[in-house]
Amino acid sequence: MVMRHSHGSCSRFLALTVLLLAPAAAIAQPRWRSHDIERPRPAVVVPPAQQLPVAPPSDAVVLFDGSSMEHWEATDGTPTKWVIEGGNMESVAGAGYIRTKQGFGDIQLHVEWAAPVPAMGQSQGRGNSGVFLMGLYEVQVLDSYGNDTYPDGQAAAVYGQYPPLVNVARPPGEWQTYDIVFRRPRFAADGQLLTPARVTVLHNNVLVQDNVEIWGPTEWLENKPYASHSERLPLAFQDHGNPVLFRNVWLRELDESAIVATEPYQGRAIALPDEVLARYFGRYVAGGNAYAVGRDGDRLYAQVNGRKLAITPHSLTTFALDKTGGEFVFELDAEGKPTGVTFHMGGGVYTARRAD
Ligand code: MG
Repeated sequence: MVMRHSHGSCSRFLALTVLLLAPAAAIAQPRWRSHDIERPRPAVVVPPAQQLPVAPPSDAVVLFDGSSMEHWEATDGTPTKWVIEGGNMESVAGAGYIRTKQGFGDIQLHVEWAAPVPAMGQSQGRGNSGVFLMGLYEVQVLDSYGNDTYPDGQAAAVYGQYPPLVNVARPPGEWQTYDIVFRRPRFAADGQLLTPARVTVLHNNVLVQDNVEIWGPTEWLENKPYASHSERLPLAFQDHGNPVLFRNVWLRELDESAIVATEPYQGRAIALPDEVLARYFGRYVAGGNAYAVGRDGDRLYAQVNGRKLAITPHSLTTFALDKTGGEFVFELDAEGKPTGVTFHMGGGVYTARRAD
């Protein structure tokens, strides 16, 4: 079947979504897709004066104090080509990411960084690097001082997922701080996700991420599902082609016993009675888009391109794919019966009408 993209329909789509959610949800919230340039910009806040550098506490693991790269390597395990200049670590274009030789789980992390001067390039091309927690989950580093980009890609965003609460960037060349509290994801022995990763970020001493639940590994254009991984993985910094500086990198390993999870993660799942679920079953077709919704044993599924994908209701209108960042948003009539569905996947929006 042919999947048609409907670009440029963002505002129309949002109006529709708000309208659809209104009867079912108490709070009608606009929904934003990854990298949506229409998304409102976080307010600009002038950061407070800071005493820098911030000295590590006595129980910290000091990863970079300006003297050597001994705790770091290239991601293939060879010596990194990043350089030390005047006690600062500098990202070298083409040298690739660097990572710590040691792996870490739950951490409190302090990083100081500075965007290059003079500022060169724009949007994602200006002062781009990244703090990759466990090498997988990026807190974006970007020169966001007077440099517009999509909000979930600006400085201190959880890349592609959460814009910062405010834009508290300092000008390029000035030292900026990230103080990050990260709780790693927990997986069952069989690989099932038990608890998603969570992260809190202070940028220049201002809260910008408030214990947000990370959806999965951060990636450009892609919502990747969690894949079971080690409890300890290296911290990595990104080479995005810009000579971003880092200094005074230290972390504290946190007690992990506080987070105990034994049940598979259910996300925002809600339980719906069988007679309500039955209303959704059937075929939805329009303009080359065709979906079937039904039940296989005790699982709901949506058939897409001939494949049955498990779905879970998050509200009366929104059913999410279990393993991928895709959602089916149903349009309901006054009796709550679906009259159509819009499938959101990878930035694409595919609408179909009830066919039976
Ligand atoms: Mg980056």
